[in-house]
Amino acid sequence: MKVLSLRNRTLSFLFAAIFLLSAMFVPTTRGYAKTVAEALEGYQTGKDWFGEDFAYDITDEKACWDLLMKPITVLNVDETESVYPLKTPGGDKVVNDKLGGFINGASAGVHVLGSDENGWTLIEGIDYYNRIIRGYVKTKLLKTITPNQHYGVIVDKLTQRLNVFIDGKFFSSCAVSTGLPNDEQPYNETSSGEYVAISWSGGFDAEGMYCAMAIRYNNGDKIHEVPCNILADGTKRYTKWESQLGQKASHGCIRVARLPNEDGLDQTWLWNNLKRYTKIVIWDDAGRVIPYPDDDTLLYYNPTGGQYYHSYANCAAVRDKYLPLTAFKYSELDTGIFASLEPCPSCTPVKRKSVIDKQNLDRGVITQEQYDALQVQHKTEAAAIESAETTTPDASAADALATDASATVTPATNAPTDTAATEAPTQAPTDVATDGDSDVQITIIPATGN
Ligand SMILES: [Zn+2]
Repeated sequence: MKVLSLRNRTLSFLFAAIFLLSAMFVPTTRGYAKTVAEALEGYQTGKDWFGEDFAYDITDEKACWDLLMKPITVLNVDETESVYPLKTPGGDKVVNDKLGGFINGASAGVHVLGSDENGWTLIEGIDYYNRIIRGYVKTKLLKTITPNQHYGVIVDKLTQRLNVFIDGKFFSSCAVSTGLPNDEQPYNETSSGEYVAISWSGGFDAEGMYCAMAIRYNNGDKIHEVPCNILADGTKRYTKWESQLGQKASHGCIRVARLPNEDGLDQTWLWNNLKRYTKIVIWDDAGRVIPYPDDDTLLYYNPTGGQYYHSYANCAAVRDKYLPLTAFKYSELDTGIFASLEPCPSCTPVKRKSVIDKQNLDRGVITQEQYDALQVQHKTEAAAIESAETTTPDASAADALATDASATVTPATNAPTDTAATEAPTQAPTDVATDGDSDVQITIIPATGN
């Protein structure tokens, strides 16, 4: 959360007061806020931080690990202080706008672009608007840190997932919500780049949301548990913000799942296991096309009337009596009964192809024509899978029937019918289906004292 600490609120108030005062003397046509496009105009952004040919391949363990272990240069001021790069040594700030133009101290990585010039060095870093700010800072502020050598974290803004690496190996990943900028608050974008976890600052209250277990990595931007309301009786209600996991939603912080995945990964795990100076790499999403998951990816559902599809056979939000859930393949998601299932709001399974297409369309990385063609293609593919599934069992059943009929006489032909008839009641799930509608408990869990 960028604008939530008391100190920042005070600053916001001061900014507002100064603005109102200046507005009395300077005629203006609108407020000082810039649109996202205006704020970014003329700047390189987080998409340029790792270079044009960067692969953004989370499956390349070696490349990811090398990046996570590489030393990082930060600005040696307090973790809640920041530094404005200057146009010339000792000159004017490169830019100075609301919450912009500065690089946060102690944990935000910078690139050193030149050598010492009479006590000043040319660097570039990323500000809260996700802009690369290139300018001069005092050479004595540059400090190189060796990140923690056992843990590393890569947050991909494209997939909205947080990926943990341990001792050179991919460990696990979980859904997050990074910042969602708007024209009133273009600085809400979560800045890409390289950081280190600097302090375990803990839970905080933000405009009615409680954010537990916050780990600071870029001053006001923290990694914390998905927010909740705390009700009068102490129960925590996560409904609104938990259902946003997997998409941008925050004011800049990285919101992390509160229910553990099958590897035990959630914000509690990060809070308990990560060490100070664990590198936090944040990949930009601009210009990248969201890929489809592998067709063989296993998803899970409750065949007795569940309304959701899940990432795990033992999704933590599903009532025990429905566990383990039944597996099916991602390729089947648009077919038959799977076509009407919704993504579990708790375990944040992969999205449907049509949903991914819509996101890519909205992000401007595919055209309307490409989008339309893809919808037709998905329908054709789903129809092909459905017809394959319905014809194959029928054919084999007919074969079996024919074999039976030829082997014996009348009783054999009746037998399959009887079998089907007796099986039918156990499969007729009228009662169970009604019950199964509430297979997922997602709204309230008892307060745990944090
Ligand atoms: Zn689930």
